[in-house]
Amino acid sequence: MHASRLRSIFHPYRVTHGKGFELRQIDPADTGGLKSAEAAETLLQKGITTLQHLQEKLYAQDKWAILLIFQAMDAAGKDGTIKHVMSGVNPQGCEVFSFKAPSSEELDHDFLWRANRALPERGRIGIFNRSYYEETLVVRVHPELLAAEKLPPPLLSKRLWKERFEDINAYERYLSRNGVIIRKFFLHLSKEEQRRRFLSRLEEPAKNWKFSMADAAERQHWDEYMDAYEAAIRHTASKEAPWYVIPADNKWFTRLVVAEVIIDTLRGLGLTFPKVDAAKRAELAAVRRKLEK
Ligand code: ATP
Ligand code: MG
Repeated sequence: MHASRLRSIFHPYRVTHGKGFELRQIDPADTGGLKSAEAAETLLQKGITTLQHLQEKLYAQDKWAILLIFQAMDAAGKDGTIKHVMSGVNPQGCEVFSFKAPSSEELDHDFLWRANRALPERGRIGIFNRSYYEETLVVRVHPELLAAEKLPPPLLSKRLWKERFEDINAYERYLSRNGVIIRKFFLHLSKEEQRRRFLSRLEEPAKNWKFSMADAAERQHWDEYMDAYEAAIRHTASKEAPWYVIPADNKWFTRLVVAEVIIDTLRGLGLTFPKVDAAKRAELAAVRRKLEK
């Protein structure tokens, strides 16, 4: 694939303006014209090396922070995508947080509290494996979870979801104004491909541990989840914090596209290693002379 075509491979999946967005606009089986997993794998390996160099500069410069948010249905490949795409990056410059059901301590706070504590420092890449978006997804699909959040009754109004979207938008705008670059990924899997992946988790002993009865139960709520995702993307896609709705029925394609988005994001920052000034250069020269003696 031509480099310039590769560079724009993610364009069809980027949502910066959510109004009117519909999930059905994007086919989970799409591979952007790429035919083979092998070709994609070669491109991904190149991308991983590029990412490694960019991340070194990000870390050295120590100004921007990158926040990558991953959301998806079970078995869509979040874990594998994170593992492969970040495989070349220095672990010291990268941290992954997996958000599970909130603890009782977390339920005693506002819903952004635990996310805020997990934000990446400047110079780092932070990955949220699930995120505060669950507060508009699983919590929306299961009203009993909302009931457990201990919100004062007058605040439990019909406007709650709209308010959460507003608060998320304001929060993301605030973060971006503070130098946190946000990119949000929805790995868009078809229900049929999820079925196949669940079956292979049941059939292959080495994959058994990944299967939980709860995941199978969630499948019954598939359409509600899709509605919740669509609403979340519609209301929270913005220029500073775009959503990428990435076809996820082919893992090799998902990984390549995610890698290219992150590379494009880092390239857009015009990162350079910090410049050393004349005084510092003189200092370094003096140390060098001493060491050489
Ligand atoms: P994954 O499925 O992402 O690979 P996992 O299977 O290892 O992760 P789970 O034990 O399934 O981990 O934990 C994730 C669960 O936590 C999901 O069912 C998710 O919906 C739930 N969860 C995450 N955030 C929240 C939240 N804010 N409120 C309620 N449930 C949440
Ligand atoms: Mg799970």
